[in-house]
Amino acid sequence: MIRHPAVFLDRDGTLIEEVGYLDRVERVRLFPWSVAAIRALNEAGIPIVLITNQSGVARGFFTEAVVDEVHRHIGELLGAGGAHLDAYYYCPHHRDGKIARYAIACDCRKPGRGLVDRAIRELGVDGPASFTVGDRWLDIALARNIGGRGILVRTGYGAEEIKHRYDRIPILQKPIETDALKLIFRIQPAAAQAPDAEVERRAAVG
Ligand SMILES: [Mg+2]
Ligand SMILES: [Zn+2]
Repeated sequence: MIRHPAVFLDRDGTLIEEVGYLDRVERVRLFPWSVAAIRALNEAGIPIVLITNQSGVARGFFTEAVVDEVHRHIGELLGAGGAHLDAYYYCPHHRDGKIARYAIACDCRKPGRGLVDRAIRELGVDGPASFTVGDRWLDIALARNIGGRGILVRTGYGAEEIKHRYDRIPILQKPIETDALKLIFRIQPAAAQAPDAEVERRAAVG
């Protein structure tokens, strides 16, 4: 099987606005550029896998049915603009959760790589050649855990997180619709081989 690079996309603060625990579908707001960004990746043939921590399920703030409804709604909003995500994966767990069956130390809560391993298994994507895009360092830590590239966006918590950057992590200071996409398109063919310094250099000039 030929494995293709994918984009592992964070949800809250990256694809949609960060609103705290998203417990109602009415609170979903795509960023103005989200549809065009996703469509561009679709047209480039790059699979996009949503990877999101939803510990609100374990904490008893909302149910998995609500998460599914939110994801259906996001799918409809994207679909209206001719864009789609290839899969929606989420972690409902949290060690300190109130709901017993979700109150576990799982391997799928980011930066754990459980959901990425599922994408590798179910979708046949190439983990180390893939990009992880998110607004928190834990998204970038996930990228490191799979040996891939991380892109920190400035939306959501990104603008705050960027103030506490640590070394040798490729960062991108513009929202996903501009430089993140450009970066993905430019280094995608050689992503598996590109050393971090090269990614940083290209990000700086991009
Ligand atoms: Mg986020
Ligand atoms: Zn989990």
